Amino acid sequence: GGSASASTIKQVKLERESELRIEVCNETPLKLRLLNGSAEIFGSELAPEMWLTFPPRLKFAVFTWYGATIEMDGATETDYTADETPMVSYVNVHAVLEGRRNRAKALSPNDSEASQGPRVIVVGPTDSGKSTLSRMLLSWAAKQGWKPTFVDLDIGQGSITVPGCIAATPIELPIDPVEGIPLEMPLVYFYGHTTPSNNVDLYKTLVNELAQMLETQFARNAESRAAGMVINTMGWIEGTGYELLLHAIDTFKANVVLVLGQEKLFSMLKAVAKSKPNVDVVKLQKSGGVVSRNAKYRQKSRGYRIREYFYGLANDLSPHSNIANFSDLLVYRIGGGPQAPRSALPIGADPIANPLRVTPVNIDRDLLHMVLAVSYAKEPDQILSSNVAGFIYITDIDIQRKKITYLAPSAGELPSKYLIMGTLTWLET
Ligand code: ADP
Repeated sequence: GGSASASTIKQVKLERESELRIEVCNETPLKLRLLNGSAEIFGSELAPEMWLTFPPRLKFAVFTWYGATIEMDGATETDYTADETPMVSYVNVHAVLEGRRNRAKALSPNDSEASQGPRVIVVGPTDSGKSTLSRMLLSWAAKQGWKPTFVDLDIGQGSITVPGCIAATPIELPIDPVEGIPLEMPLVYFYGHTTPSNNVDLYKTLVNELAQMLETQFARNAESRAAGMVINTMGWIEGTGYELLLHAIDTFKANVVLVLGQEKLFSMLKAVAKSKPNVDVVKLQKSGGVVSRNAKYRQKSRGYRIREYFYGLANDLSPHSNIANFSDLLVYRIGGGPQAPRSALPIGADPIANPLRVTPVNIDRDLLHMVLAVSYAKEPDQILSSNVAGFIYITDIDIQRKKITYLAPSAGELPSKYLIMGTLTWLET
Protein backbone atom coordinates (compact mmCIF):
# COMPACT_ATOMS: atom_id res chain seq x y z
CA GLY A 1 0.00 0.00 0.00
CA GLY A 2 0.95 3.65 -0.34
CA SER A 3 1.43 4.05 3.39
CA ALA A 4 4.13 1.39 3.58
CA SER A 5 7.37 2.64 5.03
CA ALA A 6 10.64 2.32 3.14
CA SER A 7 12.48 -0.98 3.27
CA THR A 8 15.25 -0.80 5.85
CA ILE A 9 16.70 -2.94 8.57
CA LYS A 10 15.24 -1.92 11.88
CA GLN A 11 15.82 -3.06 15.45
CA VAL A 12 13.12 -3.08 18.09
CA LYS A 13 13.78 -3.57 21.77
CA LEU A 14 10.91 -5.19 23.63
CA GLU A 15 10.44 -4.89 27.40
CA ARG A 16 9.20 -7.89 29.37
CA GLU A 17 5.58 -8.90 28.71
CA SER A 18 5.21 -6.71 25.67
CA GLU A 19 4.71 -7.47 21.99
CA LEU A 20 5.59 -6.15 18.57
CA ARG A 21 2.47 -6.16 16.38
CA ILE A 22 3.08 -6.40 12.68
CA GLU A 23 1.04 -6.30 9.51
CA VAL A 24 3.23 -7.38 6.63
CA CYS A 25 3.04 -5.24 3.51
CA ASN A 26 0.46 -6.31 0.87
CA GLU A 27 3.04 -6.89 -1.85
CA THR A 28 6.34 -7.90 -0.32
CA PRO A 29 7.39 -10.35 2.38
CA LEU A 30 9.08 -9.34 5.62
CA LYS A 31 12.19 -10.83 7.15
CA LEU A 32 12.50 -10.92 10.90
CA ARG A 33 14.76 -12.46 13.52
CA LEU A 34 15.37 -12.60 17.23
CA LEU A 35 18.67 -10.87 18.01
CA ASN A 36 18.75 -11.50 21.74
CA GLY A 37 16.53 -12.44 24.64
CA SER A 38 13.59 -14.77 24.04
CA ALA A 39 10.35 -14.28 22.15
CA GLU A 40 7.46 -16.25 20.67
CA ILE A 41 4.91 -15.86 17.92
CA PHE A 42 1.47 -17.06 19.01
CA GLY A 43 3.00 -19.55 21.45
CA SER A 44 5.81 -20.79 19.22
CA GLU A 45 9.33 -19.83 20.33
CA LEU A 46 11.73 -18.11 17.95
CA ALA A 47 15.14 -19.65 17.45
CA PRO A 48 17.92 -17.12 18.09
CA GLU A 49 19.28 -15.21 15.10
CA MET A 50 17.46 -17.27 12.46
CA TRP A 51 15.85 -15.11 9.79
CA LEU A 52 12.20 -15.97 9.15
CA THR A 53 10.38 -14.77 6.04
CA PHE A 54 6.75 -13.81 6.51
CA PRO A 55 4.50 -13.71 3.43
CA PRO A 56 2.64 -10.56 2.39
CA ARG A 57 -0.48 -9.60 4.37
CA LEU A 58 0.28 -11.77 7.39
CA LYS A 59 -0.71 -10.20 10.71
CA PHE A 60 1.04 -11.36 13.82
CA ALA A 61 2.74 -10.38 17.07
CA VAL A 62 6.16 -11.19 18.52
CA PHE A 63 5.67 -11.48 22.27
CA THR A 64 8.35 -11.63 24.94
CA TRP A 65 7.99 -12.77 28.54
CA TYR A 66 11.40 -11.51 29.69
CA GLY A 67 12.58 -9.00 27.08
CA ALA A 68 14.05 -9.32 23.59
CA THR A 69 15.55 -7.44 20.69
CA ILE A 70 13.98 -8.08 17.27
CA GLU A 71 15.42 -7.20 13.90
CA MET A 72 13.20 -6.60 10.84
CA ASP A 73 14.18 -6.30 7.22
CA GLY A 74 11.54 -5.06 4.80
CA ALA A 75 8.48 -2.86 4.66
CA THR A 76 5.38 -3.32 6.81
CA GLU A 77 1.86 -1.91 6.62
CA THR A 78 2.16 -1.23 10.33
CA ASP A 79 4.36 -2.23 13.21
CA TYR A 80 4.10 -1.00 16.75
CA THR A 81 4.88 -2.11 20.27
CA ALA A 82 2.18 -2.79 22.85
CA ASP A 83 2.78 -3.41 26.52
CA GLU A 84 -0.84 -4.16 27.38
CA THR A 85 -1.71 -7.70 26.33
CA PRO A 86 -3.95 -10.44 27.78
CA MET A 87 -1.07 -12.94 27.53
CA VAL A 88 -0.75 -13.50 31.29
CA SER A 89 -4.41 -14.54 31.50
CA TYR A 90 -3.97 -16.80 28.46
CA VAL A 91 -0.93 -18.54 29.91
CA ASN A 92 -2.80 -18.98 33.19
CA VAL A 93 -5.46 -20.88 31.28
CA HIS A 94 -2.70 -22.99 29.79
CA ALA A 95 -1.39 -23.77 33.28
CA VAL A 96 -4.83 -24.97 34.40
CA LEU A 97 -5.15 -27.15 31.29
CA GLU A 98 -1.68 -28.52 31.92
CA GLY A 99 -2.75 -29.57 35.42
CA ARG A 100 -5.74 -31.39 33.98
CA ARG A 101 -3.60 -33.16 31.39
CA ASN A 102 -1.21 -34.36 34.07
CA ARG A 103 -4.08 -35.59 36.19
CA ALA A 104 -5.63 -37.39 33.23
CA LYS A 105 -2.31 -39.03 32.38
CA ALA A 106 -1.76 -40.19 35.97
CA LEU A 107 -5.14 -41.92 36.09
CA SER A 108 -5.82 -45.36 34.73
CA PRO A 109 -6.25 -45.35 30.96
CA ASN A 110 -8.96 -47.96 31.54
CA ASP A 111 -11.10 -45.29 33.11
CA SER A 112 -11.90 -43.46 29.89
CA GLU A 113 -13.78 -40.74 31.74
CA ALA A 114 -11.04 -39.82 34.26
CA SER A 115 -8.16 -40.23 31.83
CA GLN A 116 -9.72 -37.73 29.43
CA GLY A 117 -7.75 -34.48 29.33
CA PRO A 118 -9.31 -31.06 28.82
CA ARG A 119 -11.61 -30.47 25.88
CA VAL A 120 -11.41 -26.77 25.31
CA ILE A 121 -13.71 -24.86 22.97
CA VAL A 122 -12.89 -21.27 22.03
CA VAL A 123 -15.90 -19.10 21.20
CA GLY A 124 -16.55 -15.45 20.41
CA PRO A 125 -17.49 -13.08 17.60
CA THR A 126 -15.43 -12.84 14.41
CA ASP A 127 -12.12 -11.13 14.90
CA SER A 128 -11.92 -11.70 18.62
CA GLY A 129 -8.72 -13.73 18.37
CA LYS A 130 -10.20 -17.25 18.58
CA SER A 131 -7.87 -18.86 16.06
CA THR A 132 -4.90 -17.11 17.63
CA LEU A 133 -5.75 -18.23 21.17
CA SER A 134 -6.37 -21.80 19.95
CA ARG A 135 -2.98 -21.75 18.32
CA MET A 136 -1.21 -20.49 21.45
CA LEU A 137 -2.82 -23.12 23.67
CA LEU A 138 -1.84 -25.85 21.19
CA SER A 139 1.73 -24.64 20.80
CA TRP A 140 2.30 -24.25 24.52
CA ALA A 141 0.96 -27.77 25.09
CA ALA A 142 3.07 -29.22 22.26
CA LYS A 143 6.16 -27.50 23.67
CA GLN A 144 5.60 -29.50 26.85
CA GLY A 145 5.47 -32.74 24.92
CA TRP A 146 1.70 -33.22 24.58
CA LYS A 147 -0.01 -34.01 21.31
CA PRO A 148 -3.30 -32.18 21.64
CA THR A 149 -5.88 -32.47 18.87
CA PHE A 150 -6.83 -29.31 17.06
CA VAL A 151 -10.42 -29.22 15.84
CA ASP A 152 -11.38 -26.42 13.48
CA LEU A 153 -15.09 -25.85 12.99
CA ASP A 154 -14.65 -22.52 11.24
CA ILE A 155 -15.84 -23.09 7.68
CA GLY A 156 -15.23 -19.44 6.81
CA GLN A 157 -11.48 -19.25 7.38
CA GLY A 158 -10.17 -22.71 8.06
CA SER A 159 -6.64 -22.96 9.35
CA ILE A 160 -6.24 -26.70 8.65
CA THR A 161 -7.29 -26.90 5.00
CA VAL A 162 -9.37 -25.07 2.39
CA PRO A 163 -12.47 -23.12 3.51
CA GLY A 164 -15.83 -24.89 3.64
CA CYS A 165 -14.51 -27.78 5.73
CA ILE A 166 -14.44 -28.90 9.29
CA ALA A 167 -11.28 -30.72 10.24
CA ALA A 168 -9.07 -32.08 12.98
CA THR A 169 -5.38 -32.84 13.29
CA PRO A 170 -2.98 -33.74 16.09
CA ILE A 171 -0.47 -30.99 16.91
CA GLU A 172 2.84 -32.62 17.69
CA LEU A 173 5.13 -29.58 17.61
CA PRO A 174 4.64 -25.89 18.32
CA ILE A 175 2.93 -24.43 15.24
CA ASP A 176 5.35 -22.86 12.77
CA PRO A 177 4.87 -19.06 12.76
CA VAL A 178 5.20 -18.93 8.97
CA GLU A 179 3.86 -22.27 7.72
CA GLY A 180 0.96 -22.62 10.14
CA ILE A 181 -0.68 -25.96 10.83
CA PRO A 182 1.08 -28.83 9.03
CA LEU A 183 -1.13 -30.35 6.35
CA GLU A 184 -0.11 -33.95 6.99
CA MET A 185 -3.08 -36.28 7.08
CA PRO A 186 -5.73 -34.15 8.70
CA LEU A 187 -9.19 -35.61 9.21
CA VAL A 188 -11.38 -33.48 6.94
CA TYR A 189 -15.12 -33.35 6.26
CA PHE A 190 -16.37 -31.27 3.35
CA TYR A 191 -19.32 -29.03 4.01
CA GLY A 192 -18.85 -27.16 0.76
CA HIS A 193 -20.10 -23.71 1.74
CA THR A 194 -18.54 -20.88 3.68
CA THR A 195 -21.58 -20.11 5.79
CA PRO A 196 -23.49 -22.62 7.90
CA SER A 197 -26.90 -21.17 6.96
CA ASN A 198 -26.61 -22.84 3.53
CA ASN A 199 -27.34 -26.20 5.15
CA VAL A 200 -27.47 -26.24 8.94
CA ASP A 201 -28.45 -29.94 9.04
CA LEU A 202 -25.43 -30.90 7.00
CA TYR A 203 -23.13 -28.81 9.20
CA LYS A 204 -24.46 -30.58 12.30
CA THR A 205 -24.21 -33.98 10.66
CA LEU A 206 -20.57 -33.42 9.78
CA VAL A 207 -19.79 -32.14 13.28
CA ASN A 208 -21.33 -35.37 14.62
CA GLU A 209 -19.27 -37.48 12.21
CA LEU A 210 -16.03 -35.72 13.10
CA ALA A 211 -16.71 -35.98 16.84
CA GLN A 212 -17.53 -39.67 16.54
CA MET A 213 -14.37 -40.36 14.60
CA LEU A 214 -12.24 -38.54 17.20
CA GLU A 215 -14.03 -40.41 19.97
CA THR A 216 -12.99 -43.69 18.33
CA GLN A 217 -9.39 -42.51 17.97
CA PHE A 218 -9.24 -41.30 21.58
CA ALA A 219 -10.64 -44.61 22.81
CA ARG A 220 -7.54 -46.43 21.62
CA ASN A 221 -4.96 -43.72 22.27
CA ALA A 222 -4.43 -42.79 25.92
CA GLU A 223 -1.75 -40.25 25.00
CA SER A 224 -3.96 -38.13 22.79
CA ARG A 225 -6.88 -38.60 25.16
CA ALA A 226 -4.87 -37.10 28.04
CA ALA A 227 -3.64 -34.23 25.86
CA GLY A 228 -7.26 -33.39 25.01
CA MET A 229 -8.45 -31.03 22.32
CA VAL A 230 -8.70 -27.39 21.44
CA ILE A 231 -11.73 -26.55 19.29
CA ASN A 232 -11.88 -23.36 17.27
CA THR A 233 -15.35 -22.17 16.24
CA MET A 234 -17.03 -19.78 13.84
CA GLY A 235 -17.66 -16.14 14.66
CA TRP A 236 -21.38 -16.65 14.10
CA ILE A 237 -22.82 -16.39 17.61
CA GLU A 238 -26.38 -15.14 17.11
CA GLY A 239 -29.51 -17.20 16.46
CA THR A 240 -28.65 -20.36 14.58
CA GLY A 241 -24.96 -19.62 15.13
CA TYR A 242 -25.56 -19.81 18.87
CA GLU A 243 -27.51 -23.07 18.47
CA LEU A 244 -24.57 -24.50 16.58
CA LEU A 245 -22.17 -23.47 19.35
CA LEU A 246 -24.30 -25.30 21.91
CA HIS A 247 -24.43 -28.28 19.55
CA ALA A 248 -20.63 -28.29 19.24
CA ILE A 249 -20.12 -28.00 23.02
CA ASP A 250 -22.38 -31.02 23.58
CA THR A 251 -21.16 -33.08 20.65
CA PHE A 252 -17.47 -32.77 21.51
CA LYS A 253 -18.22 -33.01 25.25
CA ALA A 254 -16.29 -29.80 25.80
CA ASN A 255 -15.49 -29.19 29.46
CA VAL A 256 -13.79 -25.80 29.17
CA VAL A 257 -15.50 -23.01 27.24
CA LEU A 258 -13.31 -19.97 26.65
CA VAL A 259 -15.34 -16.91 25.69
CA LEU A 260 -13.45 -14.11 24.01
CA GLY A 261 -14.57 -10.53 24.05
CA GLN A 262 -18.32 -10.82 24.43
CA GLU A 263 -20.12 -10.26 27.69
CA LYS A 264 -23.54 -11.35 26.41
CA LEU A 265 -22.33 -14.64 24.97
CA PHE A 266 -20.44 -15.31 28.18
CA SER A 267 -23.49 -14.83 30.39
CA MET A 268 -25.68 -16.91 28.08
CA LEU A 269 -23.23 -19.81 28.10
CA LYS A 270 -22.66 -19.43 31.82
CA ALA A 271 -26.42 -19.83 32.36
CA VAL A 272 -26.52 -22.92 30.15
CA ALA A 273 -23.57 -24.43 32.02
CA LYS A 274 -25.46 -24.22 35.34
CA SER A 275 -27.05 -27.53 34.42
CA LYS A 276 -23.68 -28.98 33.40
CA PRO A 277 -21.51 -29.13 36.52
CA ASN A 278 -18.39 -30.35 34.71
CA VAL A 279 -18.32 -27.54 32.15
CA ASP A 280 -16.31 -24.45 33.07
CA VAL A 281 -17.12 -21.26 31.23
CA VAL A 282 -14.29 -18.72 31.37
CA LYS A 283 -14.32 -15.16 30.11
CA LEU A 284 -11.12 -13.88 28.53
CA GLN A 285 -10.13 -10.48 27.31
CA LYS A 286 -9.72 -9.94 23.59
CA SER A 287 -6.24 -8.78 22.61
CA GLY A 288 -5.97 -5.20 21.37
CA GLY A 289 -3.75 -6.59 18.62
CA VAL A 290 -6.45 -8.60 16.87
CA VAL A 291 -6.97 -7.12 13.44
CA SER A 292 -10.53 -6.74 12.11
CA ARG A 293 -11.02 -8.09 8.64
CA ASN A 294 -13.98 -7.00 6.53
CA ALA A 295 -16.08 -9.27 4.32
CA LYS A 296 -14.03 -8.43 1.24
CA TYR A 297 -10.77 -9.25 2.99
CA ARG A 298 -12.23 -12.53 4.21
CA GLN A 299 -13.40 -13.40 0.72
CA LYS A 300 -9.92 -12.68 -0.59
CA SER A 301 -8.16 -14.68 2.06
CA ARG A 302 -10.40 -17.66 1.25
CA GLY A 303 -9.01 -17.46 -2.27
CA TYR A 304 -5.43 -17.29 -0.96
CA ARG A 305 -6.13 -20.31 1.21
CA ILE A 306 -7.31 -22.36 -1.79
CA ARG A 307 -4.31 -21.18 -3.81
CA GLU A 308 -2.06 -22.26 -0.93
CA TYR A 309 -3.63 -25.73 -0.96
CA PHE A 310 -2.63 -26.27 -4.59
CA TYR A 311 0.53 -24.18 -4.94
CA GLY A 312 1.94 -23.99 -1.41
CA LEU A 313 2.56 -20.92 0.71
CA ALA A 314 5.68 -19.93 -1.22
CA ASN A 315 4.63 -21.40 -4.58
CA ASP A 316 6.66 -24.43 -3.61
CA LEU A 317 4.14 -27.07 -4.72
CA SER A 318 3.42 -28.05 -8.29
CA PRO A 319 -0.15 -29.18 -8.82
CA HIS A 320 -0.99 -31.26 -11.88
CA SER A 321 -3.51 -30.49 -14.55
CA ASN A 322 -5.40 -33.65 -15.47
CA ILE A 323 -8.01 -34.50 -18.08
CA ALA A 324 -10.79 -36.98 -17.46
CA ASN A 325 -13.88 -38.17 -19.32
CA PHE A 326 -17.22 -37.10 -17.93
CA SER A 327 -17.91 -40.78 -17.35
CA ASP A 328 -14.80 -41.21 -15.16
CA LEU A 329 -16.02 -38.92 -12.41
CA LEU A 330 -19.15 -39.07 -10.30
CA VAL A 331 -20.12 -35.73 -8.87
CA TYR A 332 -22.62 -35.49 -6.03
CA ARG A 333 -24.18 -32.72 -4.07
CA ILE A 334 -25.75 -32.85 -0.64
CA GLY A 335 -29.15 -31.29 -0.07
CA GLY A 336 -30.50 -28.31 -1.93
CA GLY A 337 -30.91 -30.27 -5.15
CA PRO A 338 -33.78 -29.66 -7.52
CA GLN A 339 -36.86 -30.60 -5.59
CA ALA A 340 -39.67 -32.69 -6.97
CA PRO A 341 -42.58 -30.63 -8.25
CA ARG A 342 -45.50 -30.62 -5.86
CA SER A 343 -47.63 -32.44 -8.45
CA ALA A 344 -45.22 -35.38 -8.31
CA LEU A 345 -45.56 -35.78 -4.55
CA PRO A 346 -48.27 -37.58 -2.60
CA ILE A 347 -50.95 -35.24 -1.29
CA GLY A 348 -49.81 -33.48 1.90
CA ALA A 349 -46.14 -34.29 1.42
CA ASP A 350 -43.64 -31.54 2.08
CA PRO A 351 -41.91 -30.44 -1.13
CA ILE A 352 -38.87 -29.10 0.75
CA ALA A 353 -35.80 -31.00 -0.40
CA ASN A 354 -34.18 -33.23 2.18
CA PRO A 355 -31.08 -31.30 3.31
CA LEU A 356 -29.14 -34.54 3.69
CA ARG A 357 -30.11 -36.14 0.42
CA VAL A 358 -27.14 -37.03 -1.74
CA THR A 359 -27.93 -36.46 -5.43
CA PRO A 360 -25.84 -36.99 -8.56
CA VAL A 361 -24.93 -33.84 -10.47
CA ASN A 362 -24.83 -33.64 -14.26
CA ILE A 363 -21.45 -32.46 -15.45
CA ASP A 364 -21.88 -29.18 -17.29
CA ARG A 365 -20.38 -25.68 -17.45
CA ASP A 366 -21.74 -24.91 -13.97
CA LEU A 367 -18.84 -26.90 -12.57
CA LEU A 368 -16.28 -24.53 -13.99
CA HIS A 369 -14.09 -22.88 -11.30
CA MET A 370 -15.57 -25.06 -8.59
CA VAL A 371 -13.50 -26.65 -5.85
CA LEU A 372 -14.70 -30.22 -5.35
CA ALA A 373 -13.81 -32.61 -2.57
CA VAL A 374 -12.60 -36.13 -3.28
CA SER A 375 -14.55 -38.38 -0.93
CA TYR A 376 -13.23 -41.55 0.69
CA ALA A 377 -16.68 -43.07 0.15
CA LYS A 378 -16.81 -46.44 -1.62
CA GLU A 379 -20.52 -46.15 -2.40
CA PRO A 380 -22.75 -43.10 -2.91
CA ASP A 381 -24.62 -43.82 0.31
CA GLN A 382 -21.36 -43.41 2.26
CA ILE A 383 -20.71 -39.90 0.95
CA LEU A 384 -22.51 -38.14 3.77
CA SER A 385 -20.55 -39.89 6.49
CA SER A 386 -17.14 -40.09 4.81
CA ASN A 387 -14.21 -37.79 5.26
CA VAL A 388 -12.35 -36.49 2.24
CA ALA A 389 -8.90 -37.15 0.81
CA GLY A 390 -8.40 -33.74 -0.73
CA PHE A 391 -9.65 -31.35 -3.38
CA ILE A 392 -9.63 -30.70 -7.09
CA TYR A 393 -10.25 -27.49 -8.98
CA ILE A 394 -12.19 -27.54 -12.25
CA THR A 395 -10.39 -25.48 -14.90
CA ASP A 396 -12.22 -26.53 -18.08
CA ILE A 397 -15.36 -28.33 -19.19
CA ASP A 398 -15.51 -29.42 -22.81
CA ILE A 399 -19.14 -30.32 -23.45
CA GLN A 400 -18.54 -31.49 -27.03
CA ARG A 401 -15.73 -33.90 -26.25
CA LYS A 402 -17.13 -34.69 -22.80
CA LYS A 403 -13.80 -33.91 -21.14
CA ILE A 404 -13.16 -32.27 -17.82
CA THR A 405 -9.85 -30.59 -16.97
CA TYR A 406 -8.95 -30.21 -13.33
CA LEU A 407 -6.09 -29.25 -11.10
CA ALA A 408 -5.08 -31.74 -8.40
CA PRO A 409 -2.27 -31.57 -5.82
CA SER A 410 -0.49 -34.41 -7.59
CA ALA A 411 -0.48 -36.45 -10.78
CA GLY A 412 -2.07 -39.87 -11.10
CA GLU A 413 -5.45 -41.27 -10.36
CA LEU A 414 -7.70 -39.71 -7.75
CA PRO A 415 -8.12 -41.79 -4.59
CA SER A 416 -11.81 -42.11 -5.44
CA LYS A 417 -14.18 -41.23 -8.26
CA TYR A 418 -16.76 -39.82 -5.85
CA LEU A 419 -16.60 -36.05 -5.82
CA ILE A 420 -18.63 -33.68 -3.67
CA MET A 421 -19.77 -30.34 -4.95
CA GLY A 422 -20.91 -27.43 -2.81
CA THR A 423 -20.77 -23.73 -3.59
CA LEU A 424 -17.04 -23.29 -3.09
CA THR A 425 -15.52 -21.52 -6.09
CA TRP A 426 -12.16 -19.96 -6.82
CA LEU A 427 -10.88 -17.69 -9.57
CA GLU A 428 -7.26 -18.53 -10.09
CA THR A 429 -5.22 -15.35 -10.41
P1 ADP B 1 -10.85 -14.91 14.95
O1 ADP B 1 -10.39 -16.33 14.87
O2 ADP B 1 -11.58 -14.62 16.22
O3 ADP B 1 -11.61 -14.46 13.75
P2 ADP B 1 -8.03 -14.36 14.66
O4 ADP B 1 -7.40 -15.08 15.79
O5 ADP B 1 -7.97 -15.03 13.33
O6 ADP B 1 -9.54 -13.99 15.00
O7 ADP B 1 -7.37 -12.91 14.58
C1 ADP B 1 -7.66 -12.00 13.55
C2 ADP B 1 -6.37 -11.48 12.93
O8 ADP B 1 -5.64 -10.75 13.90
C3 ADP B 1 -5.44 -12.58 12.45
O9 ADP B 1 -4.87 -12.17 11.23
C4 ADP B 1 -4.38 -12.67 13.54
O10 ADP B 1 -3.15 -13.14 13.04
C5 ADP B 1 -4.30 -11.23 13.99
N1 ADP B 1 -3.86 -11.09 15.39
C6 ADP B 1 -4.36 -11.73 16.47
N2 ADP B 1 -3.74 -11.33 17.60
C7 ADP B 1 -2.81 -10.42 17.23
C8 ADP B 1 -1.84 -9.62 17.93
N3 ADP B 1 -1.72 -9.69 19.25
N4 ADP B 1 -1.07 -8.79 17.21
C9 ADP B 1 -1.21 -8.70 15.86
N5 ADP B 1 -2.10 -9.40 15.15
C10 ADP B 1 -2.89 -10.25 15.81
